[in-house]
Amino acid sequence: MQEQMKKIILGAHTSAAGGAHKALYEGKAIGATTIQFFTSNQKRWKGRTIDKEELLAWEKALSETGMTQIMSHDSYLINLGSPDLELLTKSKEAFRREIERCHLLNVSFLNFHPGAATSGTIEECLETIVDSLLSMENLVHQGKTKLLLETTAGQGTSVGYCFEHIGMILHEVKGHIPIGVCVDTCHIFAAGYDIRTKEAWRKTLKEFDRHIGLEHLNAFHLNDSVKDLGSRVDRHADIGAGKIGLECFRYIMTHFDQPKYLETPNGPPRWKDEITILRKYAEEKN
Ligand SMILES: [Zn+2]
Ligand SMILES: [Zn+2]
Repeated sequence: MQEQMKKIILGAHTSAAGGAHKALYEGKAIGATTIQFFTSNQKRWKGRTIDKEELLAWEKALSETGMTQIMSHDSYLINLGSPDLELLTKSKEAFRREIERCHLLNVSFLNFHPGAATSGTIEECLETIVDSLLSMENLVHQGKTKLLLETTAGQGTSVGYCFEHIGMILHEVKGHIPIGVCVDTCHIFAAGYDIRTKEAWRKTLKEFDRHIGLEHLNAFHLNDSVKDLGSRVDRHADIGAGKIGLECFRYIMTHFDQPKYLETPNGPPRWKDEITILRKYAEEKN
């Protein structure tokens, strides 16, 4: 008897220029079953308002494309761990608006970069992030969106480049905030976690489990890395075209059912090819 094949939830960060629904159709056109997108301009403080017309177009596109497990990526300006009170206030405000848009569009995940210490210490930054998140407890329960801490490359003063940071934040807020983790392959590799081989993955997952808990691993950003292991520099490469290599992605496709989102640099035509390659890996397993 043939076992029913599990649906592969795989997509890319598509463009919402012209309306959120456009990101869904762009995903459909490249063979994606999910997408990540920006609900608002990621480089502006002032958040966008989604009107009735756009919401209707979104809902229509959702049913036409059959996309599920949709993820929003928060604005690059937001720093929930800022030691600067004015910036912190602005960040929390922008993050709240982001959560509201996610609720309105009923997206599954809101992926966010934990924060950056800037002039403060890492410990202070982590504590501020925890406080910021806890201050949103009422709001987050008004919808179904789960917040996902994204692992970072550790560029500049950003925190979240080691599993200890992510684990600390997660364990302090879980129970109050629906929260999980999105592993970005380029970022963890640049941060020093080797994932180039099966053996390396096993070791890295053991570390993840010790500090965070594998049950909190909710999603992946799939990116190869231009820079070397431990470089702490965040530069995405196409799948198989960077320092990580294909074996890593084969391992992910055959070992994890969590949703996966490409953020590779060459856009829709290349994503289409990458989705084809990655799907093949997953199907080989069956
Ligand atoms: Zn990412
Ligand atoms: Zn990145």
